[in-house]
Amino acid sequence: MAKKLKKLEADVIVAGAGPGGCTIAKELSQKGKKVILIEKGVYSKMFYGSLLAPIRYMEKFGFLFRTVEGDWIVQGKGFGGGTLIYAGSAFVPHPGQWQQYGIDFTEELAEAKKDCWVNKTPDDMLGEGPKRLLASAQELGYPWEVIDKFVDLTKCKAECPMCPYGCPRGAKWTGMVFAEEAERNGATILPKVTVRDVIIENGVAGGVRARGSNGQEYEINGKIVVCAAGGIGTARILKRSGFDDAGSWFTGDPAIMVFGYFKKGKGGMRDMLFSVGCHDDEHGVTFANVSGPRMFWGLQRLQEKPQKPVNAIFRWGKAIGVMIKIADELDGQIHLDGRISKPRTKRDMYRLEWGAAAAEKILIKAGCDPYNIDHSGVIVGHPAATVRVGQLVDSNLETSVKNLYCCDTSVIPDAFGVPPTLVIVSLGKRLSKRLETIV
Ligand SMILES: Cc1cc2nc3c(=O)[nH]c(=O)nc-3n(C[C@H](O)[C@H](O)[C@H](O)COP(=O)(O)OP(=O)(O)OC[C@H]3O[C@@H](n4cnc5c(N)ncnc54)[C@H](O)[C@@H]3O)c2cc1C
Repeated sequence: MAKKLKKLEADVIVAGAGPGGCTIAKELSQKGKKVILIEKGVYSKMFYGSLLAPIRYMEKFGFLFRTVEGDWIVQGKGFGGGTLIYAGSAFVPHPGQWQQYGIDFTEELAEAKKDCWVNKTPDDMLGEGPKRLLASAQELGYPWEVIDKFVDLTKCKAECPMCPYGCPRGAKWTGMVFAEEAERNGATILPKVTVRDVIIENGVAGGVRARGSNGQEYEINGKIVVCAAGGIGTARILKRSGFDDAGSWFTGDPAIMVFGYFKKGKGGMRDMLFSVGCHDDEHGVTFANVSGPRMFWGLQRLQEKPQKPVNAIFRWGKAIGVMIKIADELDGQIHLDGRISKPRTKRDMYRLEWGAAAAEKILIKAGCDPYNIDHSGVIVGHPAATVRVGQLVDSNLETSVKNLYCCDTSVIPDAFGVPPTLVIVSLGKRLSKRLETIV
């Protein structure tokens, strides 16, 4: 039997609960605004911090999400979005990259660092493997350093590679922390509800239409709508709402992992992920150390390099990895029928090859066997730039439809090639300050 349409009302409707959406919900609920935060994933911590987390907190169970070209798209789902499964590295954006679009979030960046537990990783938490990589990269002239992390150091533990599975000790900051705070402030949390489109009348946004996983239809009316469903989700909501150009560009910061095997000494797979590395602006490549639990790493290696079963089954203890992530070009498209296209341009290929060659040099210099290096396939982990500032949103993140805003990676104007969470939280804080004066 068809369920009766459920109608709700709010000052501010937030569609999608990644770090952008959760920041808006927290900030505005704190100011006494009536907020509804809608998320298609779960509001629960079951399996969070365990090896089952990818099934629950990743789009399409973590391994079925692919581009038309066959690359693996990794996307978080649930209250916290990508931060539920992210590595928690806090790269500070170059302010000039945003100032050229009329956006200055210097003040909000400082607030974001404080609110999101951003800390420098102390030396004694790094582990032997990452330290060896750091030293060899620096000797080779790459500007590697210790990376800041979204981590509460009083709870974090050395020799733990669990960040992407959710932290079992609650040491990693996620958007869920802000969602819980928003709920305590009185915000309404709507889990397992997918926003379909925005209700627009005479060029003004007045709400959203949505559907629960149980078939319940919703009409949610409000003064302000903020799309924060991520680089892919926001493009789709906007497309369904009449923005034909949404998703006509798409960057993903494609990444490759390069693994080596130490001839002597312990590998780095037990150590903290993304704790050392650097962003090389000139070549558009970001480097960071990679680690991971034995079982997943082994399965991944077996799937990608079945001809090297010995590495996958027996060499985890000696293995160490470097991830390289590039600032890619804007080619790519989000389609409404579910297809996502991300072709690799010549420049993308050059950057991936340059980065992989540099990673190999670093691994070999650190003591890895030069005749036994493995490369992973390409991973698209930062879907972005589908609703770019300057194209579909202005410097206030407002679209051409009044009272309809976007606040997530979709608004990033160009691939910067660095993990974007600190930027997104800063943008969320900046937009909240504006909205607070409007509603
Ligand atoms: C493996 C991995 C490691 C990473 N490591 C780092 C890192 O170390 N540092 C860093 O800064 N970044 C990292 N990132 C990237 C970071 O997680 C994302 O860039 C960030 O989460 C993007 O935030 P967002 O607000 O754009 O939305 P997302 O995090 O993409 O969240 C959007 C949310 O909206 C929901 N949604 C989508 N469509 C709808 C709809 N129609 N209705 C309702 N809800 C919807 C989704 O389920 C999701 O929960 C990593 C990403 C991955 C995958």
